[in-house]
Amino acid sequence: MSNELKNGHTPAPSTNFLRGIIESDLVSGVYAQRSNREGEALPQVVTRFPPEPNGYLHIGHAKSICLNFGLAADYAGRCHMRFDDTNPEKEEQEYVDTILDSVKWLGFSWEHEGKSHLYYASNYFDVMYACAQALIRKGLAYVDEQNAEQMRENRGTLTEPGKNSPWRDRPAEESLRLFEEMRDGKHPDGSMILRAKIDMASPNMNLRDPAIYRIRHATHHNTGDKWRVYPMYTFAHPIEDALENISHSICTLEFEDQRPFYDWLLEQLAEEGFFKKPLPHQYEFARLNLTYIITSKRKLRQLVDEKIVSGWDDPRMPTIVGLRRRGYTPEAIRLMCDRTGASKNNSWIDFSVLEGALREDLDPKAPRAVAVLRPLKLIIDNFPEGVSIDCSAPVYPPAHPEHDTAHRHFPITKELWIEREDFMEEPTKGYFRLFPGNKVRLRYGYVVECTGCDKDEHGNVIAVHCNYFEDSKSGTEGSSNYKVKGNLHWVSAEHALATEVRLYDRLFSDPHPDAGGKDFLAALNPNSKEVITAYLEPTLKTAQPGEIYQFERHGYFVADRVDSTAGQPIFNRAVTLKDSWGK
Ligand code: ATP
Ligand code: MG
Repeated sequence: MSNELKNGHTPAPSTNFLRGIIESDLVSGVYAQRSNREGEALPQVVTRFPPEPNGYLHIGHAKSICLNFGLAADYAGRCHMRFDDTNPEKEEQEYVDTILDSVKWLGFSWEHEGKSHLYYASNYFDVMYACAQALIRKGLAYVDEQNAEQMRENRGTLTEPGKNSPWRDRPAEESLRLFEEMRDGKHPDGSMILRAKIDMASPNMNLRDPAIYRIRHATHHNTGDKWRVYPMYTFAHPIEDALENISHSICTLEFEDQRPFYDWLLEQLAEEGFFKKPLPHQYEFARLNLTYIITSKRKLRQLVDEKIVSGWDDPRMPTIVGLRRRGYTPEAIRLMCDRTGASKNNSWIDFSVLEGALREDLDPKAPRAVAVLRPLKLIIDNFPEGVSIDCSAPVYPPAHPEHDTAHRHFPITKELWIEREDFMEEPTKGYFRLFPGNKVRLRYGYVVECTGCDKDEHGNVIAVHCNYFEDSKSGTEGSSNYKVKGNLHWVSAEHALATEVRLYDRLFSDPHPDAGGKDFLAALNPNSKEVITAYLEPTLKTAQPGEIYQFERHGYFVADRVDSTAGQPIFNRAVTLKDSWGK
């Protein structure tokens, strides 16, 4: 994993080998003329997104969602939303709800031609059980009573074949009876297991009589206490795909070695009449690895449990709910997924690629506003006391269709807030903002000339003084008489919205926080969240949760969806205007 895709230059058009596969399948027509059990015609492309409902979705899942739903949409097919809930222990309704919500928010739908395609693998337990029985009858599965350690010992290694279990050749009737007893709860967890009978000498370890059903005395969120046996993932998944008439079953590379078992199993079950041909086919792609984040659910949970972040939706989390609260848009996430394509080789994508996609999405459409983040008082000495004069500016950037019509209004008054960095008592070379004797334009307002500053007893500047030129107002004729280099943003001290703004940065300072078994907690960035009180343009008082603005010069900020104080919005910085990270 060495090659990194960097932002900043035009990215190569995305390559996606899956498109090539689908297109050649469309040409050959392998999946044409299929129909389901009810005799209805099936699309040639049927994909699925199959999360386990045991956590929140993250940016890696978004990749899989974009591929599966995106390919189905591009090739007039459909994508099934399937909960792979075959594991009774860790699954909860809370996760089901947030997963559905995240997929919808990303802009995808499991409805096709008026029909919903939302499925739960646990609804197939009866068929899976029947499939297992059929394999036993066919002499292709047996109940093994070796304990876990014996099984491990007899499995062999990559260079040595395994040894047959002493139970491998027991009569089918005996396995059938024991399998029923397992189902009925007559045996404790781990005392026996159902295994496929394939080849203990296979060079592919996954074909050395893989386990297909295990005993678990556990209550399942959907099927309750009906089952005391649960299918293994590698057995359940191909059956789920075949039952749903999936054509292209797309998964990550670590399942490549499972493909021979996938094909073996479906082939056997098709012979037994469970499924019709053509069968689904599995294709593997390289998972999305983004720098500066972690995506392991276990580790993300640890961040939440140890209160290192405020929750799954903390704006620094790489979860979909976190990214959303941070100000990421579905369009930006889809753009990044699209750009990074699908490949067969693992690689790292620099986090700036995602940030670049967000800027690209927001720049032409985000309403503009003014915010002073590090305030310093500016006093216009010759401005009348108690007077406010209306100034206006376009809401949208020049390329936006409403640029000329939509305007925001805000007052200029005698006392303003400007950015601390916009004044220097002794300017450095090339500095053309405020310093004694220099003229600048207060953006959308007047030209002012700096006259000096006030200091506290420690010598810190606490206020800057200036005079304004009454005939210099932006948008009036006189304004063109003034040629100034500096153009500063400001807000009226009297009218500004003083509110909390969170300046977020990356949660980790190491690009590969958990690579090679590293302690990811050691890589936490101590400055990933800074909370400030900023002075914002008064029009932002009515900003609604979820609305995203460009604060001129500062970046993109979203009104938080969760927190607010006394009915006024709080803002989270999604991303700065330029990629200046680590520079
Ligand atoms: P984790 O390892 O974090 O628990 P998982 O892969 O076990 O994640 P699932 O709920 O099983 O989580 O994942 C649902 C789908 O999302 C799977 O098809 C999986 O391959 C895919 N997926 C998960 N992480 C990534 C990733 N980083 N890139 C692409 N696809 C991913
Ligand atoms: Mg998984």
